[in-house]
Amino acid sequence: MNIHEYQAKALLKEFGAPVAEGVAIFSADEAAAAADKLGGPLWVVKSQIHAGGRGKGKFKEESAGEKGGVRLAFSKEEVTEFATQMLGSTLVTAQTGEAGKQVNRLYIEDGADIERELYLSLLVDRTCGQVAFVASTEGGMDIEQVAEETPEKILTLPIDPDAGVTAAAAGELCDALKLDGVAREDGLKLFPILYKAFVEKDMSLLEINPLIVMKDGRLRVLDAKCSFDGNALFRHDDVMALRDKTEEDEKEIEASKHDLAYVALDGNIGCMVNGAGLAMATMDIIKLYGAEPANFLDVGGGATTEKVTAAFKIITSDPNVEGILVNIFGGIMRCDVIAQGVLEAVNEVGLQVPLVVRLEGTKVEEGKKIINDSDLNVIPADDLNDAAQKIVAAVKGA
Ligand code: GDP
Ligand code: MG
Repeated sequence: MNIHEYQAKALLKEFGAPVAEGVAIFSADEAAAAADKLGGPLWVVKSQIHAGGRGKGKFKEESAGEKGGVRLAFSKEEVTEFATQMLGSTLVTAQTGEAGKQVNRLYIEDGADIERELYLSLLVDRTCGQVAFVASTEGGMDIEQVAEETPEKILTLPIDPDAGVTAAAAGELCDALKLDGVAREDGLKLFPILYKAFVEKDMSLLEINPLIVMKDGRLRVLDAKCSFDGNALFRHDDVMALRDKTEEDEKEIEASKHDLAYVALDGNIGCMVNGAGLAMATMDIIKLYGAEPANFLDVGGGATTEKVTAAFKIITSDPNVEGILVNIFGGIMRCDVIAQGVLEAVNEVGLQVPLVVRLEGTKVEEGKKIINDSDLNVIPADDLNDAAQKIVAAVKGA
């Protein structure tokens, strides 16, 4: 789960990280009071969406002006002007896709005088099985580009979970970021704080891009992107309270209600599969035959007819879906339950696109019979290869 920048900053502040004063607003009427409260002389008006690259982003609406999604304001009037332009407008960034995201919240922040922009993040490094810091002097820009062109400018530093952030580790990070004087002192304090926040809150990513050295030499967290491990959210009610469902895919929200592992993708072949491994293999083979999956969906082991029905409805609610592939290997899952679920779902929502069903395993004959006895226009398939070829051909032929 992701949260907004202003929420991440409030959370990091609780742990003692240096962040600017700021006020989150939901309507332009609140802009003047926010600007007053902060005092100026420099304010930053920041679009709050769950996507990065806001500064370089562009609004779709002409009324939102030429500037991007992060704007420096030099007067209170400008704060209100920008807020009026940005709220309700659609911001397109390198991370939002073409559709962009509507800006419904702004964060008005006390502006900083920047000397240097650095990159700092924490993530779970699966190769070493530890939480690792990633640090670079090349902050504020695309870190992927830095990694590609000048990888020597990036330090990856795994942290031993028993030792935590030792003085030596903090020193190494300071060196990598070329921090000295008061900035170095700030850094030595900041790194353990960030590590503590990361571990205590079960984050999966904490990215500070940029971490800045200000003109007065102090460090400040200028941007914060924070993702949490969904499997640990049950023990963090405070984090759950920060969830902004308007930022999430509606189909994914619906899927989570039914405890379905569903991820929306960009393709046009809807997939209903049981087991994450089989779901991955199904997506691979669809690609192999030259098409793209519209989703990842694992209906799980002991799925009920209701759950299968819900899954089918979610797939068909995606306007990009031009064909559906049901691929079930019945182990714990029974093929007749799947077949029944598909029938019920089709009865409820109808079927406008070709449907290929491949069933194998427990109660496969019963499952096939249910589908054959129905008047459903199903294309049967015998194995995964056959199924994938048939659905790709059906979609391409349509
Ligand atoms: P992003 O574009 O979504 O990554 O948003 P950021 O929060 O990283 O802001 C983008 C850029 O705006 C930063 O890299 C800074 O260059 C600039 N910026 C943000 N806040 C301030 C500020 O307080 N003062 C100044 N001078 N620039 C800022
Ligand atoms: Mg940033």
